[in-house]
Amino acid sequence: MNQVVIIGAGPTGLTLAMLLAQRGIAVKLIEASRSFRRTFRGEALMPSGLDAIFQMGLADLVAGIPHCALDAWEFIIERRPIFRVDEPLETGGKACTLISQPALLEQVLAKANDCPSFEFIQGSAVKDLLWQDGRIAGVTLGDHREIAADLVIGADGRNSIVRQKANLSLQEEATSFNILWFKLASSPRFEAENVFYSIVCGDDAFGLFRSSEGNLQIGWSLHGNSANSWQQIDWVERIAAASPDWLAAHIRSQSDSIERPVLLSVTVGRCPQWYAPGLLLLGDAAHPMSPIRAQGINMALRDAIIATNYLAPALQKNSSLAEIDALLPQIQAEREPEIIQIQKLQRAEIAQAELLRNYPLIRHGVSRLASTIPSISNRIRQSWVDRQFQLRRGFANVCLKV
Ligand SMILES: Cc1cc2nc3c(=O)[nH]c(=O)nc-3n(C[C@H](O)[C@H](O)[C@H](O)COP(=O)(O)OP(=O)(O)OC[C@H]3O[C@@H](n4cnc5c(N)ncnc54)[C@H](O)[C@@H]3O)c2cc1C
Repeated sequence: MNQVVIIGAGPTGLTLAMLLAQRGIAVKLIEASRSFRRTFRGEALMPSGLDAIFQMGLADLVAGIPHCALDAWEFIIERRPIFRVDEPLETGGKACTLISQPALLEQVLAKANDCPSFEFIQGSAVKDLLWQDGRIAGVTLGDHREIAADLVIGADGRNSIVRQKANLSLQEEATSFNILWFKLASSPRFEAENVFYSIVCGDDAFGLFRSSEGNLQIGWSLHGNSANSWQQIDWVERIAAASPDWLAAHIRSQSDSIERPVLLSVTVGRCPQWYAPGLLLLGDAAHPMSPIRAQGINMALRDAIIATNYLAPALQKNSSLAEIDALLPQIQAEREPEIIQIQKLQRAEIAQAELLRNYPLIRHGVSRLASTIPSISNRIRQSWVDRQFQLRRGFANVCLKV
């Protein structure tokens, strides 16, 4: 039987490993981290991602792990409320839902472990690729172990070593930026309803919501020199000063509860080519996604479904290496159009935020007019809602067929 080796047990690698192993395919999944409980795991799933979870037969499993639906989105500029949109946006649709990613990954791993053809190698980083006759034929681990494969799948995230070792180039977008990502204690206001706040004040912009595990999650985007100098300033006070009074009071009173702020360099882009002989890149390794409007996990799950449709039947038949390689461009061809469209919409969302950040006159005008004249607030609100539908549903018809 063909042997598949998947690098990276994030949403892409783990769900793909489970789907292939459930179809009897020999899969070895290699993960560098010893635990799923690392920081900066995103957790918002849009209706497109929830649908993928449902198709994978994981809906019951989600019910048993920490999760909560978002109640609304609210935008605050210069400390004034601009507009609010309740979830779900679509009548009768699914609300954007926050799901504990470590808990989800642990449960998907348990499902994969039920399959006799699955093997999990944890706590070992892939360091290099093995080549045979110009084709990638496996991987080398940090402890020098060599693992042979008929197909290597790089699902090792935005800084993919597999991508680098295979010499597959990444075209990075100019919108790549830094984000300070941290948690603090929640407030009763968020227990009553979980609103995702997007806040812009002066040069500062950040998002805030109550995570599925109960504390508040803040992502503060840092620009230019701020990324190097954030530790030299009283950044907690700066975030409080940009917040409306009720939130500022909460941040100041709970500043001792702040947990491990991490500065993340958010790479965004796409590989012109996702494959080489013997190798396929998927998820962030092929197309690192911006955190804007929570798309990366959703796209990862949808990549896993389409890859399974192509690969499972071929691998079940013990196909020749040439037959396997012939499928790889088809997987990219099916997934790439949606990724291009979603990244374009994410860029449009960032452009709106940048407009407000860079032009104080527009920022002050919008905040004054929209907070006092309902018809202006409604027009801005409607234009935001119109932009969200495709970001929530995706562009492609993604259906698990095998
Ligand atoms: C701050 C932030 C917040 C986000 N929030 C959201 C959100 O709410 N919703 C959403 O949909 N998206 C969100 N995203 C995007 C999302 O996190 C990614 O798009 C998604 O995790 C991609 O999944 P992946 O499996 O492809 O990669 P990853 O999740 O990055 O997983 C890659 C895995 O590979 C492992 N690995 C790396 N190198 C090696 C190696 N050499 N050997 C073995 N293993 C290796 C890593 O340890 C990791 O487990 C956010 C991103 C950021 C930066």
